[in-house]
Amino acid sequence: MKNKLISLFAVFILLCSLIPLELANAHPGRTDANGGHTCRTNCAKWGLKTGEYHYHNSDGSIKKETIKTTVKEKTKKDTKTEKSITSPTGLVLPKLQPAGTLQVYYLDVAQGDSTLIRTPKGQYILIDGGNNNQGKNVVKYLKGLGVKKLDVMIATHPDADHIGGLDDALKAFDVQVIYAPKVSHTTDTFKDFLTAVKTEGRTIKTAKAGVSLTIDGVDASFLAPVNDYADDLNAWSAVLKITYKDTSFLFTGDAESKSENDMLADGVDLKADVLKVGHHGSKTSTSKAFIDAVKPNYAIISVGKNSYGHPDSGILGRLNNVNAVTYRTDKQGTITAISDGSKITFVTTKK
Ligand SMILES: [Zn+2]
Ligand SMILES: [Zn+2]
Repeated sequence: MKNKLISLFAVFILLCSLIPLELANAHPGRTDANGGHTCRTNCAKWGLKTGEYHYHNSDGSIKKETIKTTVKEKTKKDTKTEKSITSPTGLVLPKLQPAGTLQVYYLDVAQGDSTLIRTPKGQYILIDGGNNNQGKNVVKYLKGLGVKKLDVMIATHPDADHIGGLDDALKAFDVQVIYAPKVSHTTDTFKDFLTAVKTEGRTIKTAKAGVSLTIDGVDASFLAPVNDYADDLNAWSAVLKITYKDTSFLFTGDAESKSENDMLADGVDLKADVLKVGHHGSKTSTSKAFIDAVKPNYAIISVGKNSYGHPDSGILGRLNNVNAVTYRTDKQGTITAISDGSKITFVTTKK
């Protein structure tokens, strides 16, 4: 009897020592580079499945952000790679999509940015024109897509990988309105742009937060620059949001955390289905707070061979964590997003 009592007591002590140990090990687990971790023990207690990826809010409560790699792969496989037209110079041209939809062509201009938007009513907006040596390609892309005139041209900021090719576009097409932020630069590339604007008899309208474009059938307005940023050219980037019925697109140029924070503080609705990732995927852009506000389903990175480490692996991880299907112009070529007002589909020139 005494022996039995001793062994029962021993079991009791053992249980007492095990239970708190297990609870103590349950949370917090090891946090990875993205700030979250997978649940190993006592997951049901926290409303999680074993192995489920999650974050902890500052008050200790659980915030689930499951990495659905398989779902994403499936979504991307659904993307069509249409038979594209290759120009005699080897440039792979995207196919013009049927009218009556909002179409966004993220042009493959190597390291740089150039995006053409065709509205459901057939108006065209060009955001940036890639580097100087990409100007001719941008003109070929646009001519291949049947562009005769540009209703709006936007120079997001004076850096060469954005405005370099715009002088060629200005010479090739009748441009109705030009927008740029109120910042100047001393490079020849920027002077070429200003000279072309003058030669074509045009003036530049100021792009800044609160300014809207006059475009039929879609809402298009600038969310940045919110402030003056002296000689920080990337911070001056004009950020445009386009909304067509239930779908929305955000074009960020090279806006970095500084500008992202100002947009957040401005209290505007940053939510967008498709995000053109800031500054070619640099780690200086796409802060956690910004991505949490945008909540993109799709992310586009306009990037080519570069020595800056674009896109940053941490940013790719961050996009993955919010389940954004990510496309890159260096991998998929020119990426076309087509919105019918409720759903968005993608076509790429490369697999
Ligand atoms: Zn820049
Ligand atoms: Zn850039």
